Amino acid sequence: RPFVSFQDVSLAYDDSGNAIEDISLTIDEGEFVAFVGPSGCGKSTFMKLCTGLRPPTTGKVEVDGKPVTGPLKISGMAFQNATLLPWRTTLDNVLLPLEIVEPYRRRFRRDKAKFVEQAKALLRTVGLEGYEHQYPWQLSGGMQQRASICRALVHEPRLLMLDEPFAALDAFTREELWCVLRDLWEAQRFTVVLVTHDLREAVFLADTVYVMSKRPGRIIDTHRIDLERPRG
Ligand code: ADP
Ligand code: ADP
Repeated sequence: RPFVSFQDVSLAYDDSGNAIEDISLTIDEGEFVAFVGPSGCGKSTFMKLCTGLRPPTTGKVEVDGKPVTGPLKISGMAFQNATLLPWRTTLDNVLLPLEIVEPYRRRFRRDKAKFVEQAKALLRTVGLEGYEHQYPWQLSGGMQQRASICRALVHEPRLLMLDEPFAALDAFTREELWCVLRDLWEAQRFTVVLVTHDLREAVFLADTVYVMSKRPGRIIDTHRIDLERPRG
């Protein structure tokens, strides 16, 4: 079932021309897609369009059958830097989306204990059991990034947006987190859009890999990855 759909989408930030151009694609519900391409090709721009942070200049963006008109609340996001708040513990950082985003906020206030349990369970899944009450500066970079992935998932988003989430990590930690992410995805089957410079990462993780050209960013290649083959 198509979940995200782009029809002839272009976006120009200013009069210097299109940042991305003529993008048409559909992402199925539960699919894991990756975008790879050189820096400046429009990967982040694509993310902004998906999540409604920018309207397209021309063309149509739909999520779940509806045009995207503003910031999309059914999405969770993680970035290259973990961006945890230094004055909050790991657990309180993970709970943050529940405290600020309606309609989750109301549910959270009503049933706080349940959501705290859920957040703790997520932290266990990514190997952060015992670190719930530590502060970000007490965690390694990889642990902070694990926490930021939990934060992106705590409100059970249907769409997970990942913008170079592993780029700042050492190779060992990065590959460990690939497996963590795949396990979470296989268990919960949210839709994932990953942008990355790392072709190996894209092929390891995604069902479909879109390759973008230099500015203006166009999709120049699409690879469907065989799910049955061993990865890595
Ligand atoms: P990537 O994420 O692939 O590195 P971006 O989506 O950030 O690429 O950028 C695509 C192009 O749009 C680049 O040429 C960049 O300079 C330009 N761009 C990005 N954000 C803005 C902005 N807010 N205003 C003007 N130009 C921008
Ligand atoms: P948004 O594009 O999300 O509305 P901004 O226009 O403030 O927000 O820009 C988003 C990010 O892109 C900021 O970090 C900004 O510094 C950066 N940016 C702005 N203009 C450019 C540009 N011409 N090229 C690349 N990056 C840019």
